[in-house]
Amino acid sequence: MNGQQTPLTPGRIVLILVGLVILLGVSYWHFFIRTPPAGEGSIGRDALRITGDTMGTYFVVEIVAESAGQLQRADEYSNAVSAALQDVDSKMSTYKPDSELSRFNRERVPEPFVFSEQTFAVIRMAQQVSEQTDGAFDITVGPLVDAWGFGPDGPAEPPGEALLAQLRERVGYTMLDVDPATQTVEKRYGAVEIDLSAIAKGYAVDRIAETLNEMNLNHYMIEIGGEVRTRGQSPSGDDWNIGIESPDDKTGGIVHTVKLSGMALATSGDYRNFYEDAEGQRVPHTIDPRTGVPVSHAAASVSVVHHECALADAYATAMMVLGPDQGLTLAEQLGMPVLFLVHTDAGGFEKRASTAFNSML
Ligand code: FAD
Repeated sequence: MNGQQTPLTPGRIVLILVGLVILLGVSYWHFFIRTPPAGEGSIGRDALRITGDTMGTYFVVEIVAESAGQLQRADEYSNAVSAALQDVDSKMSTYKPDSELSRFNRERVPEPFVFSEQTFAVIRMAQQVSEQTDGAFDITVGPLVDAWGFGPDGPAEPPGEALLAQLRERVGYTMLDVDPATQTVEKRYGAVEIDLSAIAKGYAVDRIAETLNEMNLNHYMIEIGGEVRTRGQSPSGDDWNIGIESPDDKTGGIVHTVKLSGMALATSGDYRNFYEDAEGQRVPHTIDPRTGVPVSHAAASVSVVHHECALADAYATAMMVLGPDQGLTLAEQLGMPVLFLVHTDAGGFEKRASTAFNSML
C-alpha cells in the first residue's frame, strides 16, 4: 500500500477513545492496579480497580489479585464487567427508549409480553418484595415517580389531587400478571408501566459478582451508586469494611462501618435525590405507592444487608417507605440486618438497628 498515512494526533486519539466509549455503551471506564500503602495492615496484595459511569451513576469494582496471572487478565475482567453492565442497562433502563422495559412500557394493548430471562427474574423478585411489604415496594410506581419529577423526563411541578387520583389508577403491583411458565408479564391496563430503578442497580451488582465468580476471583468489592457486594478479603487481608454515609449533606462523612464478606449492603435515603417545594418541605424520590406521595416520616436513610444485592436494594426502598417503626418490625420478622438513621428534633441523627444488624457488629 502506498496511500498516505493519517497521523495519530492527540486530537484523533481522543476521538477514537470517545468512539470506543460510545460503542461500549458505558460512559467511560478505566482500570488501574493499586498496591496498598505499607503500614496500614497491608499484607501487600495488589488490587485491580475498575471504575466508570453507568445507569446515571458511578461504579467501582476492586479485585484483589491472588497471583501475577490474575493481574495480567485485567483487560478481560474490565471487559466482562462492562458487558454485564451494558446488558442490564440495555434491558432494564427506563432512560433508554429502546430497552426491553421501555418497549413493554410503550405497549398500550394488554397482552402477554415475553421478557428475557434476566428481566423476568428481576420482576419476579420485585413482586415477592411487594407481597412481603404489602405494596410498599411497587415497580408499577413509575407514573407517580415521573409526576413528582424524579423520572427520565426530569423536574416537574408537584401534581395536584386530581392528577394523583388519575395516576394511582395505573399503579399497583397486582396489576401485573407474571407467568413463569411462559416468562411473560401482562398488564391489566395499557397504561401500566414498570420501573426497576429501585432493584436493577443491585441486580447489576449481583451479575458482576456472578461473572467474577465464574472467572475464579475470590476477593472483590463491587459498588454501583451506593449498592455494594463483597467476597473474600480486602487488599489488607481483613474483611471488607464498608462505610454507611452520613445523610447530613453539610458535614457528610461516614457514620458507621460494616464488616462485610460474601454479603451485600444497599442504602436508600432522602438526602441525595430530593428537592424543596414552595413551602420549603423536602420532597424525596421515594414514593409511597399506596398514597401516591413521597414519604414524609423521620427516616433519613436505611441500609439493608442481604446475600443478594438486588434484594438488599429493593428492601432498602421498601423500608424507606415503611419508615423506622413498621420497617424494623418487618426486619425482626425476617431476621434481616437493617440500620435506620432517623432525623432528630435537634437536627442530628439517631441510629435504630434491627437485632440482626446489631449482632453483626
Ligand atoms: P433507590 O432507593 O434504590 O430507588 C429509588 C428509585 O426507585 C426512585 O427514583 C424511583 O424511580 C423508584 N421508586 C420510588 N419509590 C418506589 C417504591 N415505593 N417502590 C419501588 N420503586 C420506587 N438515571 C439517570 O439519570 N440516567 C440514566 O441513564 C439512568 N439509567 C438507569 C438505568 C438502569 C438500568 C437503572 C436501574 C437506573 C438508571 N438510572 C438512570 C436511575 C438512577 O441510577 C436512579 O437514581 C437509581 O436507580 C435510583 O437509585 P437510588 O439508589 O438513588 O435509590
